[in-house]
Amino acid sequence: MAIIVYAESHEGKYKKAAFEAISYAKIIADQSGESVTAIAINPTDSSEILYKYGASKVLKINSELLKNFSPGAYAKVIAELNDGDTIVLPATADASSFAPILALKSGFSLVTNLISAPKNLSPFTAERKSFSGKGIQTVQVNEGGKVLTILQNAYGTKENPVDGNEETVSISLNDSDVKEKVIKVEQLSTDKIDLKDAEIVVSGGRGMKGPENWGTIEELSDLLGAATACSKPVADMGWRPHSEHVGQTGKAISPNLYIAIGISGAIQHLAGVNSSKTIVVINSDAEAPFFKSADYGIVGDAFEVLPKLIEEVKKFKGV
Ligand SMILES: Cc1cc2nc3c(=O)[nH]c(=O)nc-3n(C[C@H](O)[C@H](O)[C@H](O)COP(=O)(O)OP(=O)(O)OC[C@H]3O[C@@H](n4cnc5c(N)ncnc54)[C@H](O)[C@@H]3O)c2cc1C
Repeated sequence: MAIIVYAESHEGKYKKAAFEAISYAKIIADQSGESVTAIAINPTDSSEILYKYGASKVLKINSELLKNFSPGAYAKVIAELNDGDTIVLPATADASSFAPILALKSGFSLVTNLISAPKNLSPFTAERKSFSGKGIQTVQVNEGGKVLTILQNAYGTKENPVDGNEETVSISLNDSDVKEKVIKVEQLSTDKIDLKDAEIVVSGGRGMKGPENWGTIEELSDLLGAATACSKPVADMGWRPHSEHVGQTGKAISPNLYIAIGISGAIQHLAGVNSSKTIVVINSDAEAPFFKSADYGIVGDAFEVLPKLIEEVKKFKGV
């Protein structure tokens, strides 16, 4: 049997959340002796990247009817293609909107926002975030199949390359199956790069003294192709938009590189960033707690260090 994963894409490009869902499914598959099959709807990316995270089969659906996101229709095709007892979805806004429909159609239990590898497979037992991220519940599925959603940037991605193959499948879908669909997307956030998907994040805290000083943070992030983030007080004071606030009560992120400038490293901030692969801290106080979690640290005044760092990056990039 195979564990089915919905490999979500945006404009044909796979999202990081899809790799996280496959990584999670692979853990279950390895323990249960199953394989991972990814379902991809109208992808333009190659399937190779999905094999890298452990999907040994990719079922591709190319359908005009599914060009616009439709929760009911997406749930229908995934339910029809599933022949196992576990379906894994990323906990993105889209997949979360059809997860209950999919569970109902399949007669499965639904467990959302999982944050860590299962503690047990029989009965399936795992931890999920609850109470808007302020609590952790341990959930058990006693019998039957299950739809699981994986919280973004919680479990993370784990490379687990397998030999894979893809198959383009035709599905039985007609106009009457698409009862609702998204007809227009208006982006309200001005973020150039989605913080949750960013590979590099440059983040500022209260040590930046005021919103007028964010020019250097933006310059550095533009040079690195990074997203910008901030600590909670920075967003609370209106220096930066709340969409940039990371931490326990903000977004959880796990970029390859997190550069924290003028941020003390309070436990609530770390809760949202400590799964970043490499952490660089710039702080004038050598005793700042953030240095304990840093891979690299610079003790210095951000207003002196940042311009020098920008100069070096420019030299390195030849710009
Ligand atoms: C329930 C709860 C939830 C919370 N959730 C979050 C959350 O999600 N995210 C979050 O970030 N916080 C959260 N907080 C707040 C958290 O406890 C800290 O207060 C907050 O993270 C501190 O922000 P900061 O590091 O920017 O500011 P500060 O603690 O004021 O630290 C500023 C740092 O800048 C350094 N600095 C000062 N001047 C310079 C300079 N010129 N150059 C370099 N460094 C300099 C200082 O040495 C200091 O370390 C939460 C708190 C509570 C109680």
